[in-house]
Amino acid sequence: MSSRTLNRRQIVGMAGAGLALLGSRAARAAAGAPADWAAPDFVVLNARVYTMDPQQPQAEAFAVKDGRFAALGSTLAMKSLAGKAQTIDAQQMTVVPGFIDSHNHAPGNELLYEVLVGNPYEVEFVTIASIIDKLRVKAQKTPADTWVEGYFFDDTKVKDKRALTRQDLDQVSTQLPVMVQHRGGHTAFYNTKALQLAGIKKDTANPAGGTFDRDANGDLTGRVTDRARDVFNTVGKHMTYAGEDAMRRDRDGLAFISKQFVRYGLTSVCHEAGNLQALQEVRARGALLHRVSYEAEGPELAAMLSGGMSTGLGDEWIRLGATCEHTADGSFSERTMAISVPYPGTNGYRGNVTETQDDLNAWCERVHRAGIQMNCHANGDVAIDHVLTAYERALLLKPAADARPKITHCTLINDDLVRRIKAIGVVPALFTSYAYYNPDKFHFYGEELMKRCMAYRTLLDAGVPAAAGSDFDPGPFSPLMGIQGMVTRTGWNGEVWGANQRITVDEALRVNTLNGAYATREESIKGSIARGKLADFVMLAEDPHTVDPAKIKDIKIVRTVVGGRTQFSA
Ligand SMILES: [Zn+2]
Repeated sequence: MSSRTLNRRQIVGMAGAGLALLGSRAARAAAGAPADWAAPDFVVLNARVYTMDPQQPQAEAFAVKDGRFAALGSTLAMKSLAGKAQTIDAQQMTVVPGFIDSHNHAPGNELLYEVLVGNPYEVEFVTIASIIDKLRVKAQKTPADTWVEGYFFDDTKVKDKRALTRQDLDQVSTQLPVMVQHRGGHTAFYNTKALQLAGIKKDTANPAGGTFDRDANGDLTGRVTDRARDVFNTVGKHMTYAGEDAMRRDRDGLAFISKQFVRYGLTSVCHEAGNLQALQEVRARGALLHRVSYEAEGPELAAMLSGGMSTGLGDEWIRLGATCEHTADGSFSERTMAISVPYPGTNGYRGNVTETQDDLNAWCERVHRAGIQMNCHANGDVAIDHVLTAYERALLLKPAADARPKITHCTLINDDLVRRIKAIGVVPALFTSYAYYNPDKFHFYGEELMKRCMAYRTLLDAGVPAAAGSDFDPGPFSPLMGIQGMVTRTGWNGEVWGANQRITVDEALRVNTLNGAYATREESIKGSIARGKLADFVMLAEDPHTVDPAKIKDIKIVRTVVGGRTQFSA
């Protein structure tokens, strides 16, 4: 039974016999599993196993052989299979399939080598003085004309409770260009020197798809949004690294973030671009601990287009996936996404559309014709409409039964958009950790809009296989933080936004596992604990079904296993 025969309702996991298709026989056939399961490599006993396989939703124990699940059932039954195999007594702990992050920028070398002015992983408030101090230290070591940059800034995690300004960054340097990047990735803050180098003056007009923000007097604040940042790319110098130096940094960064991923229970991650050669070298050195769906852009995407490489090429560790997110609008967290109503409390601002419909159409058609899974970044309802228009057109020009075009974020939806999403089989990858991490930004939208944002409930009810995309660095990548937010819609500060979009723990687990596998077209080999599938699983100290929902994010990851190999243990 090929995966092509699975329909979306089955994947979403509504009760139904069709889901049995995901079970043992299909998976084993697809996976080319050995016929002889009799002598497992190890067995896990005494566990509360939530399989995400409707054919056998729960088990006490399972056996692993050659990196795959070989059998599952009662502790007694698995004990009798064990023979001389290693036994792991789970002591009633919970086991779930390995978590899958369907959208992640995996910026390992940024974490290792750049100035971090905010906390990448957790909610933490910083002072503007601390940002200035860190960047001053960097500026002292920075050659003339070269950028001083800070990363992971979050404008609503500042103890000063005010905006970061040009004047703040002038305190870092008046001689060097200074830039602080918002972790959301769509806005940045510049000092006066940087604005001068870019030729931006008080009366410079905003370009299409971006803004140079101004205060009440019309003076530049230093905040620049979306496409307006393009002009800064061509001024000043950046620290550059060549040859083996650059490769070593990229390898180190990837190896570093791979360790972080498995520490949080992630076993598969969609990487937004990055150094593909470094990724393979990390794997060859045995330092790639998680599986990668590589989403190409720039030269790598061009090589795919010209070289006949389609989505799916690769193996279970590194596979070419959809394209990197192709950006159609601004940011949810930075309040620049393109929406159909004015932002509450503004002078009619409706966000930034960052690409014309014609360009979007042409881009989608090109990648779709090449057999590459389309993937566009669209947050606002206006941008989602544009992307759907481009997908519908591409699919009309070259019909494909099961193209699974991806929409990264797909944040603000309405009934008509959901109907169109379902009609062409879109896989959306929604924000995960935002519900917990970003409640301090949702008042910019208000409850009426938040009821339709990160709309897991609506999409799952419609039979759309929503997947989980942390978007790190914009959002922390902890899957358990994501699940807590999906289940409670309650932020770190206790605020509840869009409670109508809550989903159950079981649904949230499925979103973070099986639906992620579906998004990369790998549901026949991973995403659930079923005979023949890759033995990717996580052992949790407590059961998210029974723990206080406000403490799901604090559940300890005891062990992360990928392909039968323990990649992390507490
Ligand atoms: Zn992104």
